Amino acid sequence: MRILIHGGFFSESSQSNETKLLKQKALLDILEKSKVYLKNNNAVSTSIFATSLLEDSPLFNAGIGSQIQQDGKIRMSAAIMDGTSHKFSGVINIENVQNPIFVAQKLMREDDRVLGGEGATKYAFKEGFPLFSTETKERKIEYLTKKENLGTGTVGCVVLDQNGKLAAATSTGGKGFEIPGRVSDSATIAGNYANEHCAVSCTGVGEDIVSGALATKIVTRVTDGYALKDAFKKTFEELKPYDGFAGAIAVCKNGDVFFSESHPKIVYASFDGESNTVFT
Ligand code: ASP
Repeated sequence: MRILIHGGFFSESSQSNETKLLKQKALLDILEKSKVYLKNNNAVSTSIFATSLLEDSPLFNAGIGSQIQQDGKIRMSAAIMDGTSHKFSGVINIENVQNPIFVAQKLMREDDRVLGGEGATKYAFKEGFPLFSTETKERKIEYLTKKENLGTGTVGCVVLDQNGKLAAATSTGGKGFEIPGRVSDSATIAGNYANEHCAVSCTGVGEDIVSGALATKIVTRVTDGYALKDAFKKTFEELKPYDGFAGAIAVCKNGDVFFSESHPKIVYASFDGESNTVFT
């Protein structure tokens, strides 16, 4: 059993010791709860469970605490990929729900599994998700003072369960101040991808992650025989010509776990089968 979770990028300047400790505590707490959950649940359910807890923490930019776009609205994106069935489901630019990842979960049983904008929001309400504002006081102040937020990031989770099944889940509030309608990487196969060999969740500048086809490239390289570390090395090398800004967490069927970042620093916590590691 393996679990890795990430809380996106946090710049050094946004990291007072107090915030660092809060994030460490939140990540370790969510990791512990997810380990317990994984004992009786599969990789897909656990990746959704962990991501929903990350969405519920205002410390991270997903669900509660999501960033605000140019027009003052919050639009969120989230996706799940089941490495066994190869099913990918997601919502892009959904509004007014607490947990976009739960809407992505509902979509797993549909033929139409990725919904965007108004369609995604309408679907959520039709399915009984209550209207919920994920705006926090902190994000609102940043928006009103036009202060670019360098201190909150997308969240994600990758899991290997006791039956050797893999899954990835990712959720984001976007980059903040974006043009309404912008599509980030998080609910695409560049930002979230898994098959029976490897599962990857990304964070960073969505446009760079899409250009680098990050998650899909890492998974494909592992599938074609690369060691996980080498798949990361080659894929991150390919971001360099355009100074791509990205980070990723991954787990493989053989139990290997790995993370990397092009710039400091992605915050994450992992359980490698024996012990916990937290990196903030
Ligand atoms: N990837 C997200 C986006 O570009 C942001 C992030 O990961 O911090 O919308």
